[in-house]
Amino acid sequence: MPNSRVLVSGASIAGPSVAYWLARYGFDVTVVERAAALREGGFAVDFRGKPHLAVLERMGILEEAKDQQTNMRGLTFVDAEGSTEFALPGWFLSGDLEIERGALSKIIYEKTQGEVEYLFGDSIAALTNGPDQVHVAFESGLTRVFDLVIGADGLHSNVRRLVFGHESQFLEFGGYYVAGGFDVPNTLGLDHITLDHGVPGRSMSLSSHHRPEAATPVFVWHSKEQIDYDRRDIKQLKRIVATEFAGLRWEVPRVLEAMNDAEWMYFDSISQVKMDTYSRGRAVLIGDAGYGATMGGLGTGLAVVSAYVLAGELARADGDHTLAFARYEEMIRDYAKGCQKLADGAGPFLAPRTRRGRWIRNASHRLLTRRPMAGWLQKMTVKAAAGIELEDYSGVLA
Ligand SMILES: Cc1cc2nc3c(=O)[nH]c(=O)nc-3n(C[C@H](O)[C@H](O)[C@H](O)COP(=O)(O)OP(=O)(O)OC[C@H]3O[C@@H](n4cnc5c(N)ncnc54)[C@H](O)[C@@H]3O)c2cc1C
Repeated sequence: MPNSRVLVSGASIAGPSVAYWLARYGFDVTVVERAAALREGGFAVDFRGKPHLAVLERMGILEEAKDQQTNMRGLTFVDAEGSTEFALPGWFLSGDLEIERGALSKIIYEKTQGEVEYLFGDSIAALTNGPDQVHVAFESGLTRVFDLVIGADGLHSNVRRLVFGHESQFLEFGGYYVAGGFDVPNTLGLDHITLDHGVPGRSMSLSSHHRPEAATPVFVWHSKEQIDYDRRDIKQLKRIVATEFAGLRWEVPRVLEAMNDAEWMYFDSISQVKMDTYSRGRAVLIGDAGYGATMGGLGTGLAVVSAYVLAGELARADGDHTLAFARYEEMIRDYAKGCQKLADGAGPFLAPRTRRGRWIRNASHRLLTRRPMAGWLQKMTVKAAAGIELEDYSGVLA
């Protein structure tokens, strides 16, 4: 097949997914991942509606993913004393199937074992996106030639930077930050539930599911301006969170104290990637790299669906990347747009900026999660996720 040597950058969800499909179609796939090994942990991610579940089923991983689902019972908002303000049912945040990002990544990665070459602890340093081939120089000093390069390296994509330019052109700041994801002792004895305490513009949630001894905090806060920080300086990240959340009550002081022991934490702005086109020459973007939304934009479902579509179109076009990239973009653009629209509400929902905003959120969601409105709300949260008609590529299997 022409264009059969494919390099994928990023081994989280989109990367191993597209590698899985391409290998099945007979492509020769290499995945490069900056981390020294498959990255563990991270937040729980959810799948909603038929297309998400259908792709997991076609990949042969639906049952395994179900075996490891979080089975969350719901999200309860509490006041400074820990008394319930209002509660949302499990489906509201967890969709049809919720699993930890790291667990899902491992399931997909294991599906590709023996079929895909992985280069851990490396990254693309430079690439020449030529008319016939892509010459790649890795940070390790290795140089290789590929036919196509796929950027599946997340919100701060390396391939996007090398092929399209600096991320400031493509990342739209949404006025919020999110941090957390590390373990703290589960002193509240949370059992498959998330509790969330907030004040205007700030909220901290705590969840626990399959490891009863540990709870995971997520901090969300509003910021008018973008913060200048070094994402690899964990001490600085902890200082920012500690300053933002100083003075909050409930479990917040205890979690800030426990944060001192964390060796890792997630920290990012809530931003959306907006690209006029997902491909240039022999390079193409999928998942968060092309249309990420940090949180609330069904990013994981979008990543597995887009990997399925891109690989399927490349196989159907017999490796003709110009044709396949155009078809892929045509099929994914509106779908991704719908998911990003949903994500617009994530920050304001979790940390409304004003007292009045908090009151409106609480009152409206108390109403919307009761019958008969609950059915309508459930349908609305699935609408964006279901907004694509999946093609059947089984006829092009190698
Ligand atoms: C707080 C939070 C909550 C979320 N909740 C949900 C949810 O409920 N539902 C949902 O669907 N989604 C959720 N998401 C989003 C979801 O995690 C992502 O959309 C999804 O993981 C997309 O996967 P991806 O593979 O495209 O990118 P990522 O998961 O970001 O993976 C990118 C990979 O590329 C690697 N990489 C980075 N730079 C390089 C480089 N230079 N060279 C090689 N490799 C590199 C990284 O190490 C990583 O392994 C949430 C996100 C956050 C932050």
